[in-house]
Amino acid sequence: MIVRRRWTAAATTVILISAVLSHPGSGAAAPAPATPITLTATETALVRVQLRDQAQLDRLVAAGADLANRPRARDGRILADLVLTGAQLADLTAQGATAVQIVQRAGDGSRHHAESVRAAQARTAAGLRASGAGQRTATAAAVDTLQVQQAYWWTTSGQTFLQAQVATTATDDPDVEITVSWRTADGATGSFPLSRFEDSGEYQYHYALPQPVPSRPVQLTATSSLGGVSRAVTPALWPNATPPPLPAGYQKDFIDAYLTPVDVQARIKRLARQYRDLVDVIDLPNRTQGYRRTAVAYLGDPAAAAVVVESVSFGDQGMNGVQVRTVDPGRPNRPLTVGYRDRVLTVTLATDAAGKTVSTTDDVAAAINARQAKRFRATVEDGSAGLPMPVAGPARLDDGLQGTEVPARPWTVQALRLGVHRDGSRVGVLAYSQEHAREWATPLVTLEFAERMLANARTDPATRQLLEQVDVFVIPTVNPDGANYSFNDFNMQRKNLVNHCTGPPDPRNRTSWGVDVNRNYTVGSYFDGYVGASANCLSGTYAGTSELSEAESRNVIALAQAHPNIKFAMNVHSYGGYFMWPPGAYRADGRITLPRPSIDESTLFLNSARRIVGAIAQERDTVTWPSQTGPVADVLYSAAGNSADQLYYELGIFAWDFEVGNDRWNPATGQWEGVGFQPPFDEAHAESQEYAGGLVELVRVARDYAASQSATG
Ligand SMILES: [Zn+2]
Repeated sequence: MIVRRRWTAAATTVILISAVLSHPGSGAAAPAPATPITLTATETALVRVQLRDQAQLDRLVAAGADLANRPRARDGRILADLVLTGAQLADLTAQGATAVQIVQRAGDGSRHHAESVRAAQARTAAGLRASGAGQRTATAAAVDTLQVQQAYWWTTSGQTFLQAQVATTATDDPDVEITVSWRTADGATGSFPLSRFEDSGEYQYHYALPQPVPSRPVQLTATSSLGGVSRAVTPALWPNATPPPLPAGYQKDFIDAYLTPVDVQARIKRLARQYRDLVDVIDLPNRTQGYRRTAVAYLGDPAAAAVVVESVSFGDQGMNGVQVRTVDPGRPNRPLTVGYRDRVLTVTLATDAAGKTVSTTDDVAAAINARQAKRFRATVEDGSAGLPMPVAGPARLDDGLQGTEVPARPWTVQALRLGVHRDGSRVGVLAYSQEHAREWATPLVTLEFAERMLANARTDPATRQLLEQVDVFVIPTVNPDGANYSFNDFNMQRKNLVNHCTGPPDPRNRTSWGVDVNRNYTVGSYFDGYVGASANCLSGTYAGTSELSEAESRNVIALAQAHPNIKFAMNVHSYGGYFMWPPGAYRADGRITLPRPSIDESTLFLNSARRIVGAIAQERDTVTWPSQTGPVADVLYSAAGNSADQLYYELGIFAWDFEVGNDRWNPATGQWEGVGFQPPFDEAHAESQEYAGGLVELVRVARDYAASQSATG
C-alpha cells in the first residue's frame, strides 16, 4: 500500500531512537558489505543505508527522500531503504552514513525482465509448460513496569526465530534500556536488547527484529534499566494456522516471466476465452491518460538562457519531432514574430536600429503563447528570466518515451470476475495490485491466484465449491501507464503518468512527475490533514490535485461501489513482508488515527490475518513477522488517502494490504536482507506462488464469514 514512499516535511513523523542493539555475530559497527558498494553519480538505485543518527533521517525526510521501507533500528543505528543517485549516496556517506546493501540498481529490473522472458521462451521451446513441474502437488525498587505485548516464535528453513515487543510504563524516558532473556526447552539461554520505537513523537513500545535462537523458546522475560521486570511468558507459535493441505493434482505455477501491462491484458483475454463459464471481464469506467506525454524541448541552453517549449497535445499526436528555433532576421528594426510551417516553429527575434537582436526570453515565451497557444506552451526556464534570447535551435520536441510496443492511447483498465454465480448473490472478494508501477511482482501474485482458482475449479471439488460460494474480483494492474513507464523508461517509477506540475516542464524532472495512486483516495487524505502524502507534484507520495483526481483511483472505487456484495479486499504491494489493515493514517498533531475497528472487527482482522500468513508460509516457509502484521498506522507508517482505508470506512469492506517480498535471512551474515521491487525472477516467482496461496485463503475466510453471517442472521 501503501506504501513506498516518500515522506515530506509535513510527514516527518517516524522517530526511531534505539538503545544499543547488537545482533549475534555482529558488533555495533556497520557490517562491511561482501562486495564494495559503488554507484556512479547519476545512477539511481535502491540502497539499504545505515544512517549516522536520527538527525540524518530527519533531514532526509524533510528533503523529501524516496524512502522505500520503514526505517528500522539495528545495532543502535537506523537502517533505511532509499531510492537515490550515486551523488546523493556520496553526500550521505560523507555525512557518516554507510551503504550496507544495494537492493536494486535501476537497470536490474530490465535485466531481470529480459532474463525471465528469455528463460520462459527457452522452456517453451523445450516443450515445457511454465517454470516448475507444472502440476504438483517487577521488583519493589523498580521505577517502571514492563508488559510483554508480543512474544512469538517460528521456524523458517530450519532456523528458529523469536520476536518480542515490550512496553515500559516509563514512556517519557528515552534512555530506558530493555533486554529480553529467553530459555529453550533443552535449557539453552540467551538475551538480546530491544530498541525504543516512537511514532509521531509518541512512545509506542520496544522491539527488535526477529532473532535467531537454537530451538523452540519456552520462556521469555524482559528487564529494564530502571529495574522493571516483566512476568515470565511462554512465547507463542506464530502464526499457528495451517491451511488445508493441497489435494493431489492441485494445479499451480502459471507465471513464467515478469508481465508488462500488455502481457497482463493478453492474459486476461486468454483466461476469459479459456474459462467462459467462470469469467467475466469488466472494463473499468475511467480510461487512463495512456502511455503518453507532451513533447518538450529546450530552446536555448538551460545552463545559460532558455525557454522551455511544450506541445499542448501529446507527443504521439504528431508533436514528436516538431522543431523549434530562434533566428536573427539579419535586418534592423524588425519586430518579434512567430511562425509555424512544415512542423517547424520559428521565432524571429526583434532587432534594434543597429540590427542587433533585442528580444528577451520573456518576450519569446510570451510571443509563442500569444500566437501559437493551440499548439504550444512556452515557459522561461528557471534562472533565465529577462535574459537576452540567443539564436538557438533547431531543437526537436520529444515526449521522451522509449517504449515501442505500448499502444499510445488511453488505457482501459480491466478486472476479472471469477465465480459460478456472478450475480451479486455471493460474498465478494476483491484483489487488486500494482497501484505502484515499480512493484512488478504484484500482478504476478493476483494473476497466479486467478488462474489457480479457474484451473482447479475444473479438477478440484474444494476449489469448485469456493467458486460456487464466493464472487472474486481481480484487478491485476491498477496503474498500467506508470507500469509501462517502469518497464520501458524508468524502473523506479512509482506513480502514474499524469503531470500536474505547473511551470516549466523541465525534462530533467520527467521521472518525478505523476500522482501516487495510493494517496489519491478520500478517506484520511492529505486534503483532510492526514500524514503521509505530499502536495509537491514531484514528490513520490504526491496526493494529486484533489481527492480522486486520478482515473486509476476512481476505477478501484467504481468497481467496489458497483458490486456491494464485495466484503473483503486485498491491496497487493511490494516489498518488505507486511500484512496490514486499517487504520492506515493519522493526523500529525497528537497522532490521532482514523477510528479503530471495534473489538469484534479487530479480532476478525487479526484471526483472518493469521490464517492467511499461515497459507503464505505453506509455499517456502516465509513467515510474515508478527511485528509487521497489524494496522498500517502501527506497523508501517501513516499513508494519507490510501485505498484500503477508503474501502473500509466508506464501503464497509474488510480491507487489507499485502507487502509481498519478505526480507530473506542470510545465515552467513546474520542479517535480514531486502529483496526490492524487481528481484531476479526466481524470487518474484516464489513471491507470486506464496502470496497467491494467501489470496486463496482469503477466499476461504470470505466463505466462512458468509456462512457465519447466515448462521447467525
Ligand atoms: Zn506500493
